[in-house]
Parts: sequence; C-alpha cells; structure tokens
Amino acid sequence: MTTALITGIAGQDGSYLSELLLEKGYRVVGTVPSLQPGPLLRLRHLQGRVELLRDDLLDQDRLEEIFRRHRPQEVYNFASHSFLADSFLQPIRATEVIAMGVTRLLEAIRKIAPEARFFQASSSEIFGKPIETPQSETTPFHPRNPYGVSKVYGHLMTVTYRENHGLFACSGILFNHESPRRSPEFVPRKITRAAARIRLGLDRELRLGNLDARRDWGYAGDYVRAMWLMLQRDRPEDFVLATGETHSVRDLCEEAFSRVGLDYREFVVTDAGACRPPEKEQLVGNPGKARKLLEWKPQVTFRELVRMMVDADLEEARRDGC
Ligand code: GDP
Repeated sequence: MTTALITGIAGQDGSYLSELLLEKGYRVVGTVPSLQPGPLLRLRHLQGRVELLRDDLLDQDRLEEIFRRHRPQEVYNFASHSFLADSFLQPIRATEVIAMGVTRLLEAIRKIAPEARFFQASSSEIFGKPIETPQSETTPFHPRNPYGVSKVYGHLMTVTYRENHGLFACSGILFNHESPRRSPEFVPRKITRAAARIRLGLDRELRLGNLDARRDWGYAGDYVRAMWLMLQRDRPEDFVLATGETHSVRDLCEEAFSRVGLDYREFVVTDAGACRPPEKEQLVGNPGKARKLLEWKPQVTFRELVRMMVDADLEEARRDGC
C-alpha cells in the first residue's frame, strides 16, 4: 500500500486529494497546524480514514520524526497561508511556513526518504504582475507580495533539490482553483455564498471590490488529479495547472445570481475599501504542457463550477438557517 503524506491536509486541496488517494487505495497521513475540530471541517466525511498529525513545518526534528515513522512514498505540500492578504500582515510567519517549510520538507526527504516523490504547490502568484500573457513554465517570476515571494523560493528550492540531489521533486504552478470547500475570503465563494443567502432572505446585499478584476478560475477537484498525475510520470517536471480562460468578478456575480433567479445588479454594492492595491492584470495560465504530457484537461467548466458552488451554499444556508 502506498503511503502519501499531505501537509496542510485540512485545506481545500488537501481534502480533495485525500478523497482521490483513498479511492486509489493509498494510506493517507496528513499534517494540520491544529487538531481543533473547527479547522478540520473539510475532513469531517473522511474521519477515521486519514491519519492526522499536528505539525506546521516549523520544527525540523519533528518533521523528520514524521518521515521516520510513516515512510511516505509520495509527499504533497499544501502547508501555507493561502490567503495572500495575510502574508502582508504576517510576512515573517508566511516566509517561515511557505518558503522555509519547503526546505525543511526537502531536507527530510533527502535524508530519510530519498525515493519519495514530492509535489510542491506553487502558485500563479509567482508571476504577480506578469511579464507575458498567458503565463507558462518559462515565464519569468515577478511576485508582488510576501506570499508570492515565498512561493518563488519554494519553487526554486524544489528545482534545486531535483537538479542537485536527484530527488523526484516537482512544482505545480496552480492558478486559482475553487470549490464549495473554498474559504469565503476568496471572491468566488464570497459571491456564491452571498447569492444563496440573499435568495433565502438571510442577507440583503453583497459588498465587493473591483468587479472588472479577472482570473483564471478552475475547479479544485480537477487540479488535484493533475497533481497526482505529475507524481506518476517517469521523470519529475514542473507544470502550469490552469484552464487558460479568464472571467471577471462581474461574470462570477452574473452566473451566481442568475443560478438563484436574481439580477446581481440589484444586490452588489461596490466598496472602494475592498479594492486592493496593487491589482494584478492578465493572470492567465497556459496549460499546454499539462494537456500534452499529463493528458490533463479540466472537466468542470466555469459555469458548472459556479453552479456547483451556489447549490452547495444554498444547501448549507438552508441547513444552518442563519
Ligand atoms: P486572489 O487575489 O487571486 O488570491 O483571489 P481572490 O479570490 O481573493 O480575488 C480575486 C480577484 O477578485 C482580485 O482581483 C480581487 O481584487 C477581486 N475582488 C473584488 N472584490 C473582492 C472581494 O470582495 N474580496 C476578494 N477576496 N476579492 C475581490
């Protein structure tokens, strides 16, 4: 039985990847920064099927002990503060976990499990204000916040261990990927949740920042499949994982509100305070390499994704009723 170690297993991607690996017959061990029930909500349905360990990638000895005890053959690193605004508030902690955490993991693999295959969750934030559009595996980095800078470090450290120590280590450059399990700090979930709640009379308006901001939004379930495929290849390589399409925040509003039979223009209020500088332009990935070498193609369209999220939010709001 293959053992996979997933750091940051309680996040959106950790929960989808756990499901995929359990279906494939893996033993899944995951680390979480806290064993409090609140942060583990996304794993509720997998209780008893995944083994949870408390770890936040800050302590090398503890991490190496986890490797000695569990001997993972595949390691997926999702440990990070994924909401980038937080990285401006806590730049030192963001660097410790997102950047140094990767070195600690790679060191543990090099010393204890050199045959293990390593996936680093890299991010489109490494392109920040992009030098070219669309962005591919060869686009120069130009990060614009501590999160993006730390992700560049993690990305390059992964390449360095691959090239210098011969590890099977690769980075997936992930563009925005969403789902009903996405935190409402991100705009797609904020919108789908508000559309559902307004439909049910639980809220009256939705305050947003820039409606013209565009992103390349995909479905998280599709992205974890690509991550797994990356670790099944004969040789380790980095891949952009994206849909190659962009939509605006306004498109998201239109799609989400129309799913519940409403016109977003009656409920959305633009709030200058929610606009964040510097605004990124033209972040869109070129998934050509993944399409060709992984034979990967996102299966869920933008419209299907938004509908899936609104439907789940309707169900949740009806259940919680507040
Ligand atoms: P990220 O910025 O790519 O990490 O993802 P977000 O989902 O947080 O934001 C996507 C885009 O939506 C950004 O350009 C935001 O400026 C824009 N946006 C507009 N209104 C909001 C809002 O109320 N909340 C957030 N999070 N983003 C907003």
